[in-house]
Amino acid sequence: MMSNKILLKDLTQSIQYLKGVGPKRAKIPELLGLTTVGDILQYYPRIYQDRRHIKPISQLRKGERETIKGVVIGAEQTGRRNILKIMVSDGTGYISLVCFGRPQMRKYLPTGTHIILTGRVNVFRSEIQISDFEYEILKDNEDDLIHTNRIVPLYPLGLGLPQGAQRTMRLIARLALDRYVQDLAEPLPSSILVKYRLPDASSAIKGIHFPDSEEEYKQARSRLVFDEFFYLQLALGMRRQRERQKEGIAYTNQGKLAEVFIRSLPFSLTRAQERVIQEIRRDMGSPTPMNRLLHGDVGSGKTVVAAVAALTAVEDGCQAAVLAPTEILAEQHYFNLSQYFVKAASQFASPGISPSPHLALLTSGLKAREKEETLGQVRSGEVNIIVGTHALIQEGVEFHRLGLVIIDEQHRFGVMQRAALRDKAQLTSTVAPDCLVMTATPIPRTLALTVYGDLDTSVLDELPPGRRQVITKCRSAESLPRIYAFIRDQVKAGRQAYIVYPLIEESEELDLKAATVAYEHLTKEVFPDLRVGLLHGRIRPDEKDEIMQAFYEHRLDVLVATSVIEVGIDVPNASIMMIEEAERFGLAQLHQLRGRVGRSTHPSYCILLTKSQIAEAVNSPHTIPDDDSLAKAVQRISSLVQTNDGFKIAEADLAIRGPGEFFGTRQSGMPELKLANPIQDIKQLQAAREEAFSILENDPTFSNPEHQLLRQVFEHNFKDRLVLSEIS
Ligand code: ADP
Ligand code: MG
Repeated sequence: MMSNKILLKDLTQSIQYLKGVGPKRAKIPELLGLTTVGDILQYYPRIYQDRRHIKPISQLRKGERETIKGVVIGAEQTGRRNILKIMVSDGTGYISLVCFGRPQMRKYLPTGTHIILTGRVNVFRSEIQISDFEYEILKDNEDDLIHTNRIVPLYPLGLGLPQGAQRTMRLIARLALDRYVQDLAEPLPSSILVKYRLPDASSAIKGIHFPDSEEEYKQARSRLVFDEFFYLQLALGMRRQRERQKEGIAYTNQGKLAEVFIRSLPFSLTRAQERVIQEIRRDMGSPTPMNRLLHGDVGSGKTVVAAVAALTAVEDGCQAAVLAPTEILAEQHYFNLSQYFVKAASQFASPGISPSPHLALLTSGLKAREKEETLGQVRSGEVNIIVGTHALIQEGVEFHRLGLVIIDEQHRFGVMQRAALRDKAQLTSTVAPDCLVMTATPIPRTLALTVYGDLDTSVLDELPPGRRQVITKCRSAESLPRIYAFIRDQVKAGRQAYIVYPLIEESEELDLKAATVAYEHLTKEVFPDLRVGLLHGRIRPDEKDEIMQAFYEHRLDVLVATSVIEVGIDVPNASIMMIEEAERFGLAQLHQLRGRVGRSTHPSYCILLTKSQIAEAVNSPHTIPDDDSLAKAVQRISSLVQTNDGFKIAEADLAIRGPGEFFGTRQSGMPELKLANPIQDIKQLQAAREEAFSILENDPTFSNPEHQLLRQVFEHNFKDRLVLSEIS
């Protein structure tokens, strides 16, 4: 039964020993971190050039992208502006390659050099020119079938690689394919390939490097995209399965505490909240541990839902831990939950209802003695809702009876960290606590399937009634006098305002200073008659509480803050927000910030202050800047001005940043998606998920011989990434 076919991962032969390569050529892939034949075959081209149709120069068309082949017949420096022109002839005519500020090109392309090049054709004073071109030098002895007369792969090279690197890569890829492609083993069961009409592994690898047609490329890509999703879904599915096999807590309470709490709220729940609360209570009531993701737009009321979950645990005599990624966020959760519970406190204590929720906040700001005391109360069970950062679990705090972990991710976390956190939380008890993961921003469905594919999801897809769209404008500093006047008017009308300054980790000191200076200026010069407070991360926790409390109780009119208020602060009377240097924030972050206003029936406003170039471009879309980072800032700000819908904003964010950055694959610990795009390739994603989950269901130990190779690839792809001990 054994075949001598081999998996890509097992192609460990060093590139330099591949016949025809040698140490000199092998330097190029080495610079790209590629050492084995398997590496090179899994290093996919970035783009392709269609060089099947080489045009005679006499037939070039103006304005088209064309490919020609010819020989350098000379070069001239045209005096002004440091322009070099290199003349290329193919016997039917000649063109000039225009090189701006690149005199060294003369050296690279001496007279007599045979080259092939692709670029857009231009005609200037009856001379045929190409100024933006990609070229390669042809050598007589090289096989033209690789570099021309076909669809030619261009590999991602980055900067600083020597001349000819592209050709070297192509040659090596070709040699590797010629030597090994027929030997590649097929890890997927043939039923899957047939069902989705996918080419086999060796055709796919050949087709991604050297497609003979567009169709072949599409097929190859489709297969490799499927693979990327498939192994990821296997990993997520396996985690999910593992979690579900654990013994969990089946809560039996009637939900009295939750009921009392909900009755104490000054509003009634939205239908979405009711539905999600049911989903959570159903999970908690079952002996299978809950692994649920809760997401919804900013302001959709996630905190109430989290509070109900916590009370459900408390009522059965368990503890709930609420974990946030930063101390400030932990403080805000603590503050918000306390505010909620204060109102219900008297009823909590009424007869027939026990125990009451007792909250504690555990942060590094605590003095040693306070910390000891709190830890003691957590150990004894006296405190039953513990709020802190993720460090709480990492440091192995001892719980009396931990029954629920609420992880607030804020988008800063990923599969692997969460998994680790959950595993640690479980070590502290014999049964697995239920787990509710919250994110601050809504998640497009496709994203939910990848980063959160191991969780069940609940979505709050409905905002509380009476919410108003936040009127959002982009302005530059020139408009400040008018903006200040507007803020003053709003305050006179009884509203409150936020003025937010960026605080970015890398420049924290500078940013803090900027915010403090601005605060001085605002209190002394701009709003001497208003009550203005300052809030930032360096303020002592008790002072911070006092300032938040003061703003909450309307003893302050204006709160100047760094982005610490990004999440959590909840003051419905605040209806105006101005964000300084808005271009420095990410899109999700801006949306989150803006969500602090628009929480009441008053008209609400968000003013995004940016460089004038950006403001101009946002307000008159004909002036998009050339500079890439400015252009992206314009896109971000424009989507905020255009919509309040968090799902649309998340999709725009994904489109602007691209999946790699958006998913933060590196931080999230997921293997990189090289070809796959979860939005465009949603069909493949769903198919891959279905197949992966079906294999896990029918053959959870991969014991079917058909699944042997698949298992090997999987373990290889995910070693060190997921805790996979269970499958061996
Ligand atoms: P999220 O965390 O989802 O951004 P919050 O939980 O902070 O949202 O809730 C936003 C605001 O809406 C809070 O002021 C909260 O008290 C209020 N709120 C929550 N649920 C409702 C509801 N059903 N009706 C009215 N207001 C609500
Ligand atoms: Mg349960």
